[in-house]
Formats: sequence, structure tokens, C-alpha cells
Amino acid sequence: MEKTVKENLEKISYLINEAKSKSKYNQDVKLIAVSKTVDVDKVAEAADFGIMDFGENKPQELLRKAEVFPSYNWHQIGTLQKNKVKHIIDKVKLIHSLDSVDLAKEIDKRAKDKDITIQCLIQINISKEESKHGLDENSVVEFVKQVSENYKNIIIKGLMGMAPYEVEKENTRIYFKKMKELMSLINSKNINGVILDELSMGMSNDYQIAIEEGATMVRLGTLIFGERIYNKNI
Ligand SMILES: *Cc1c(COP(=O)(O)O)cnc(C)c1O
Repeated sequence: MEKTVKENLEKISYLINEAKSKSKYNQDVKLIAVSKTVDVDKVAEAADFGIMDFGENKPQELLRKAEVFPSYNWHQIGTLQKNKVKHIIDKVKLIHSLDSVDLAKEIDKRAKDKDITIQCLIQINISKEESKHGLDENSVVEFVKQVSENYKNIIIKGLMGMAPYEVEKENTRIYFKKMKELMSLINSKNINGVILDELSMGMSNDYQIAIEEGATMVRLGTLIFGERIYNKNI
């Protein structure tokens, strides 16, 4: 029989702690339940277990669920189009997918309109796969300079990245190490007082390795809610 959300979360919590004990960084790790395509009753089950942070990649879906559960923390984890920013700007706790100056400009403008600041992570294309979004690691220092100088309603909290899918999970480790090094590099430049301390990395397939390498947020969907059914209209 399929395991319940609660059973899955019990096991994951145990494995997160196990991975944390292997990390030399002694960091806190926040579990973000990726609820894309998942019904609200499953979201409620995860919340019953104590999960307060949920990730969505489609702004419309984020909005709809944030309306049902306004007190939870909603994370925009997928590519964000500029024309969608205004809809989610005051509903979202953290945008994980900031990857262009144009997008930063729009987020900043909409945040200013509402007189709020918005926390963002810079998405890095760490695997350099064509299909993946994100900034090239070599342009991130310049990007942090630009955003922190020009877009005062954005607070850059850290970096987000995805390792390529690897059957041999151990092969993902180098990507997570690179993310951690990149964050240290940015902090060492002392750019306009910006200090990054969040690393959103690790998904169902590789989160334990990501935590061992310093992840402070892992984004898990399939492991919590089961395989996604994409054509369902929810
Ligand atoms: C879907 C998604 C996840 C979760 O993936 P799983 O493999 O189901 O854990 C994490 N991050 C992003 C950006 C996603 O789009």
C-alpha cells in the first residue's frame, strides 16, 4: 500500500537528521514540501505533521493554494516570468529563481509599489546544462553587485541550484560543493554589505548529499507526496 504523507515525512525527518550529522557545517536545514500538482488535502496532511513551508513552480497554483492556506510560507521555486511577478509579490515568502537583471527590476518595482521587501535566492546553472535555467556562476558576483546597488527592495539571501539527475547519487556531490564554494566566494567580496547564508539545493534524489555539503533548504516533492500526476486539473 502507498505510504501516507505522514509516514513519508517521518522517514525523511530521520534521514535529514542523519545527513545533518554528517555535515561539517552544523547548519539548520529547512524542509520545503514541493506541492506542485498536489491536492490541498495532502498539503493539509503535511501541515499536520508540522511542515510550514511549501514550494510551487507555477504562480497561479501558488496563488490558489496560498489563498487556502494564507498562514503558510509559500516559496516560488520555478522559473518566474516577469508578467507574473505582480500577482505573487505579496504572497510569497522567498523567490528561489532570481536569474536576470530584468526579473530583479520587475520584482523590485512591484515590491516598492506594495512598500515591502522581497527575499530572493539567485538561481545558478551549476550543471551548465542547456535545459536548466539560472545564472552562469562566472557572472554571479557582478549580478549581486548590480542587484544590491540598484534594487533596494530585494534582499538576496543566498543561492539555489540543481544538480543534474544522476543514477549514481554520489556524482551529484561536486555540484553541491561548487554551490557552497560560490557562496563563500561572493561573501568574501564584501559586496555592499550583502551576506548570503541560504543554500537551497537538494531534491528527492539527492537531498542527503546536498545537506552533507551545506544545504540549508531542501525541496522535496516526490518523496513526500508520491509521483506527480501532471495532467490533473486541481
Ligand atoms: C519539482 C521541483 C522540486 C521537487 O522535485 P522532486 O524530485 O519531486 O523532489 C524541487 N525543485 C524544483 C525547482 C522543482 O521544480
